[in-house]
Amino acid sequence: MSLKLDGKKLSLEIEAKLKNYISSNRKIAKRVPGLAVIRIGEDPASGVYVKNKEKACNRVGINSFIFHLKDNVEQKEVEELIKKLNLDNDIDGILLQLPIPKKFDDQRLISYINPSKDVDGLNEKNIGKLVKNEPAMRSCTPAGIINLLRSQNITIEGKKIVVIGRSLLVGKPLSLMLLNLNGTVTMTHSKTLNLDKVCKEADILIAAAGKPNLVNSSFVKEGAVIIDVGIHRLESSDENKTRLCGDVLLEDVITKVFAYTPVPGGVGPMTVTMLLVNTIFSWQKQFGLSSTLNDLLP
Ligand code: NAP
Repeated sequence: MSLKLDGKKLSLEIEAKLKNYISSNRKIAKRVPGLAVIRIGEDPASGVYVKNKEKACNRVGINSFIFHLKDNVEQKEVEELIKKLNLDNDIDGILLQLPIPKKFDDQRLISYINPSKDVDGLNEKNIGKLVKNEPAMRSCTPAGIINLLRSQNITIEGKKIVVIGRSLLVGKPLSLMLLNLNGTVTMTHSKTLNLDKVCKEADILIAAAGKPNLVNSSFVKEGAVIIDVGIHRLESSDENKTRLCGDVLLEDVITKVFAYTPVPGGVGPMTVTMLLVNTIFSWQKQFGLSSTLNDLLP
């Protein structure tokens, strides 16, 4: 039977350690860590993600500050808010919940975030450190995936790894992290020819294309590990109901693979947990606390 990489379970285990870490260090720091989340507009999925992040902060003892802005604010006003949060001593992390409405320049906003508070790891400085394989805040979804693989002692070094997708949020930073860990990485995208054949070479196949059920058994080598980053809400046959699915047609590949991530309950919870880790990492650095979290940042 293939192994389920249970992101929900691992995220709860890591959260328990984070909660302990905060309670044993809060006296030294004289305050708990603080995370500011900026949401712009009314995208319902973003609303759910922000709520989940707020709840996760509560569970471990991080103070969360939610800034929900209307989509008629100006770019300049968001930049000013970020500058203010950069200087706020109660805030260790600033997250801009993506996607934001198209009229905003998201990359410019991210570049305003102080790199030491950039808990999404997307600022040029943190991406640069990733390229150089230097310690820094790491983007959450890729770092969550690496921790999920490590939790089951799945070897990365020397393995053939194919990543579907080259976004700044997932595909590129993930490929770099895997490369830094000595995987032999192929990054693919919408213009890749014979995608199925390229994927079939992979010992570890990671699907982050944002295309429901793109990956079927013809993409998968016998005994491979398959990580599904995609998350899609589809109409269900049962009226008024929706169901979640990923980029992988799980029922088609499950008997073939050594290990897989479910959707939901695989990569998603780990993304949220890594946001907590990054926030605490920033707090830890600010107060010179013992650094027991560094292994979680690949
Ligand atoms: P994105 O910015 O839309 O990037 C998608 C990437 O996939 C692009 O590089 C695109 O190629 C490539 N692609 C699209 N269709 C393809 C195809 N048919 N064959 C090969 N490559 C293809 O998306 P993203 O932000 O990386 O997110 C990807 C998925 O992960 C989405 O479903 C998103 O909701 C999900 N996600 C989940 C989490 C989580 O925590 N579970 C976190 C982040 C994202 P081009 O570059 O050529 O356009």
